[in-house]
Amino acid sequence: MVDDCIFCKIRDGEIPSEILHRDDHCFAIRDIAPAAPTHLLVIPLEHFTFLQGMTPEFHPTLDAMFTAARDLAAAEGIVGSGYRLTINQGADAGQAVDHLHLHVLGGKPLGPVG
Ligand code: 5GP
Ligand code: ZN
Repeated sequence: MVDDCIFCKIRDGEIPSEILHRDDHCFAIRDIAPAAPTHLLVIPLEHFTFLQGMTPEFHPTLDAMFTAARDLAAAEGIVGSGYRLTINQGADAGQAVDHLHLHVLGGKPLGPVG
């Protein structure tokens, strides 16, 4: 547990949240302030801030995150209409929560990236 990390607290059940998916590597929730009709967050169980911390032994975690994102997009019915996966990293990307997470966005035209 990293102190004061909202996603660690959700992972540990300290903050109640609907868990859409959970496996040995990651879990998924709905974003509290959705930017699109579907806006999910796929979050590694382990607290990483940056992809740089996900050294080769954690590549199964990346695999699990992208597999979960793919399956959740299918469950949300947005594979045909399209969706976007985003990982914000650091200040210029506007990363607000320093526990790395993969946004899954879809359900409307999303416009150009950035
Ligand atoms: P970032 O800007 O770090 O890539 O994205 C952080 C995301 O986490 C934001 O989209 C924000 O709405 C979401 N978020 C922040 N706090 C909570 C929370 O307590 N619960 C949930 N479900 N989402 C949160
Ligand atoms: Zn954390």
